[in-house]
Amino acid sequence: MSASAATSLSDLHEDTIVATATPPGRGAVSLIRLSGSRSREVAAACLGWAGKQLHPRRVRVGLFRAASGEPLDRVLATFFSQPNSYTGEDILEISCHGSPVVVAKVLETCIALGARPARPGEFTLRAFLGGKIDLIQAEAVRDLVESETAFQAEVARRQLEGALSKALRPFREELIDVVSHLETAIEFVEEDVEPEARDAVEKRLEILAASLEEWIGSYRAGRVVHDGATVVLAGRPNVGKSSLFNYLVREERAIVTSVPGTTRDALREVLDIKGLAIRLVDTAGIRAGGDPVERKGVERSIRETREADLVLLLQDGSPGVEEEDRQTWEKIRDRPYLLVGSKWDLGRPWTAAEEIRKSSAGVVRTSVRTGEGMEELAELVVAVLVRGSVPCRERPMVTSLRQKACLERALERLGKAREVLREGLSEEFASYEARRCLEALGELTGETTTEDILGRIFSSFCIGK
Ligand code: GDP
Repeated sequence: MSASAATSLSDLHEDTIVATATPPGRGAVSLIRLSGSRSREVAAACLGWAGKQLHPRRVRVGLFRAASGEPLDRVLATFFSQPNSYTGEDILEISCHGSPVVVAKVLETCIALGARPARPGEFTLRAFLGGKIDLIQAEAVRDLVESETAFQAEVARRQLEGALSKALRPFREELIDVVSHLETAIEFVEEDVEPEARDAVEKRLEILAASLEEWIGSYRAGRVVHDGATVVLAGRPNVGKSSLFNYLVREERAIVTSVPGTTRDALREVLDIKGLAIRLVDTAGIRAGGDPVERKGVERSIRETREADLVLLLQDGSPGVEEEDRQTWEKIRDRPYLLVGSKWDLGRPWTAAEEIRKSSAGVVRTSVRTGEGMEELAELVVAVLVRGSVPCRERPMVTSLRQKACLERALERLGKAREVLREGLSEEFASYEARRCLEALGELTGETTTEDILGRIFSSFCIGK
């Protein structure tokens, strides 16, 4: 942590913060959470006897009173004593009736008693600063809260439990051991280091580099799990795009997404396909002419095709349409695509052009009438998007661009260290590079980080987390 970051963040740390942890609006219960050294005082001041009898992790029932003494609500209060709490500080959780009026009054009272409103992600920031979790886990907290599919939740939970953090530990230990080896070699420079010894060190670095490469490689699947993917339906008119679109929307669970810019008009829908959030786009609207509004929609569809993670190219085996099929293919051929034979129930003898079949990521025959091939289609979509390896639940997965960038920097340094050794240059240079590699990993876990980076990460959290 840089000195300036440490100062200002620890200043913030002095405050007791308060926020509603449950979503705004009306509900049976709302949870209000305080963290910081004043949590006990607040409890004692507004919960009367119950607030003075706090035992860690024990629930108390009490009448919550405003600062003026006016009774507000009968609440449940749970106290967590530092350091055994989420943030590592004293935490008071108040469950009151979920009326926005009651919630506002409870918050007001806590603030009148010296707490201040928490910033987005500030509870988790404190957990991180207090050494309860590392930065990878902090990001996982955000991802878990924001998850929209069961699989996203699963990956985030694993990350929160330390899937990647734990994998990094032996990696770092091995790298530190290599560094100390290299540095011993520098000290005994007069006694020539055996070339075999250098080879052995290089070999160890090679194994480490392979791990880094594997983690970086997992980002492709990680990104799809985390952000979802855009799948576009393409094909000549009447080939069955809208029918397939409607079938999938009906069969797969549609996600009510809050992703900005995702409009839920007839042409696009966000679906949960085997745990991946798939933005399905029907390009039936791609045609010339139309009014300005329609033209805008068409432009958007075309753009979307270009940015598609996967295209479903439909062909229905109608006679005499080869040329039209080829033209559609020309438009999308630079994107990964699946060749989908539609209307299979009609029993047409369909064979796609060799070239189109060969460069596709897979071929599947479907019918919206009988549902044939739909399961296979869903499986293929997932397999292609995460490149064969159905998102692996055992191996750690890199889910953010920040994590990937840190790992890439680490890999680059490791590569340089290996180069130095191969070229027979001094161990000193190799050790320098290996240390830079450790630094990049330190940034990944947040051991060394700047306020700027923390600000960026935690500002994307919701308030109360
Ligand atoms: P689009 O222009 O590509 O969107 O095509 P549509 O989805 O509008 O379908 C064109 C025609 O094909 C419609 O009459 C559909 O009922 C029919 N159709 C679509 N899918 C199937 C299918 O799987 N089996 C059969 N028999 N007909 C289908």
